[in-house]
Amino acid sequence: MSVTNSPPESVLISESHLQNRIHELGAQIVTDYENQELVLLGVLRGSVLFFADLARAIFRAQVENPVREVPLRFEFVQLVSYHNSTKPSAVELIRGGTDYLEERHVLIVEDIVDTGHTLKFLHEHLWTLKPKSIKVCTLLDKPSQRQVPVAIDYIGFEIPDTFVVGYGLDYAQQYRNLPYIAVLEST
Ligand code: 5GP
Repeated sequence: MSVTNSPPESVLISESHLQNRIHELGAQIVTDYENQELVLLGVLRGSVLFFADLARAIFRAQVENPVREVPLRFEFVQLVSYHNSTKPSAVELIRGGTDYLEERHVLIVEDIVDTGHTLKFLHEHLWTLKPKSIKVCTLLDKPSQRQVPVAIDYIGFEIPDTFVVGYGLDYAQQYRNLPYIAVLEST
């Protein structure tokens, strides 16, 4: 088995740009959810690095402005998409810690929104669990690829139609640990 993890050359979003934007998102979320408990719901596996940094950014924003508290709970779901000719966009929940959402504010934390099918499925599923509200925070948005309309409340970066890896996003389970977003040039 070949185990290569040589970094793709083309950096699309640098580590410092990612961290600065996540800091801004954390501050905005603390302002919007001031003094309300929030469930951060991470979508495995791609969102893990973003999730961890966003959670810390929310903490730091509270330290900078101590009158604003946003107590956090963590939950995670894992979804799988089946792309085939009969059902081009079937999405299924294969694992989910969604027991504690009733009457709570939920913020879905996604790595990237592409066609929108994953988010649409998750949104519909979560509403059956009777949360108080559902909002969406995605690190990356590829609006040119959208097939179904989805509402996104917080967007880190809008990117062009290109396949990206790093900072949680993989190609064949590689590159997730890059601290930046890169365009995969060759495979
Ligand atoms: P959607 O249902 O919006 O089409 O798909 C979202 C999922 O597709 C993401 O969570 C991610 O797993 C995958 N995806 C979409 N675009 C990219 C990309 O550019 N790079 C990687 N690594 N995954 C992508």
